[in-house]
Amino acid sequence: MSELRQDRVTGAWVIIAPERQNRPQQRTGTTHTPQPRPSFDPDCPFCPGNEAILPGILEDVPTDRPPGWRVRVVPNKYPVLHADTAMGQAARRDDVNMAGYGHHDVVVESPRHDADLASMADDEIEAVLSAYHRRFVWLSQLPRIQRVILFRNYGSISGASLAHPHAQLVALPMTPPDLQSQAALAHAWHKHHGRCILCDEIETERADGRRAIEETDAFTALVPFAATCPFEVWLVPRQHQASFAEIDGAELGEMGRLLRSLLCRLKCVLGDPPYNIVVESTGPAESGRPYLHWRLRIAPNLTMPGGFELATGMAINPSSPEDDARALRDAEGYAPRP
Ligand SMILES: [Zn+2]
Ligand SMILES: [Zn+2]
Repeated sequence: MSELRQDRVTGAWVIIAPERQNRPQQRTGTTHTPQPRPSFDPDCPFCPGNEAILPGILEDVPTDRPPGWRVRVVPNKYPVLHADTAMGQAARRDDVNMAGYGHHDVVVESPRHDADLASMADDEIEAVLSAYHRRFVWLSQLPRIQRVILFRNYGSISGASLAHPHAQLVALPMTPPDLQSQAALAHAWHKHHGRCILCDEIETERADGRRAIEETDAFTALVPFAATCPFEVWLVPRQHQASFAEIDGAELGEMGRLLRSLLCRLKCVLGDPPYNIVVESTGPAESGRPYLHWRLRIAPNLTMPGGFELATGMAINPSSPEDDARALRDAEGYAPRP
């Protein structure tokens, strides 16, 4: 039987309808075969030696090994927003129109075209997470920037136009309405209950246990109660932390190892599914707020939204969050390369 569930953190209602999996071609457990990639692609702008086709280099994280960098930050060649657009002052034209000012960076996660977060060594994935964090903090502090969106698209169906492993950051001169309403919801919850909504949610989920996947000293990973898609995963700091900007070096390493383990579990269950990763967090200016609590979401792209979703803004999840969590819990986490 289907069920309607509301996510207390986002306010979104979802229809959980596992029996929909019985429709032809709707099985969420369908294995996605990994597409083999070469270690170097002569046409890829992110591969070493192809710097001439990059619009520039913002940062290289050095290493002794060739090609001399392990993580690289570059401007997006086709940015959605432009840093040199009117720089803000005169950018707002009226209430519903402003110049496309902002930043759009790319974090190239490895010199290897065939690298994968799920199989990186500890120091490699920590360097990736540190670059995410550094860039997130730097962009958040720029004038007129209200929100920095950190995301990773994996697989062409998820929006990745280049196969080389990378993540992106878009710095916005406004806060998207959905994120505004989530913050308002969190604020209202705190006012009424005197507690952070996500801290409460983590406590409830840990006591329940049915949607738990894995924990480390500082983080909890779970399938949310009202997951919007099959195998949606949240990675959250267990101690209250308002902004991703507040995480320290040791926690970044721990977070990297947990993220890698979760991606391994998804691969174990689903093959090599396309997915989006998003870090939902306000910037350093809102550090310490008692009602904001950041999280990382992994959303595999196994189903396509249709007219119902377009009409209602509600997701239909043809999978049971409890079954998905059990499958991920029972799957293999990270196994180091021999
Ligand atoms: Zn490449
Ligand atoms: Zn909290």
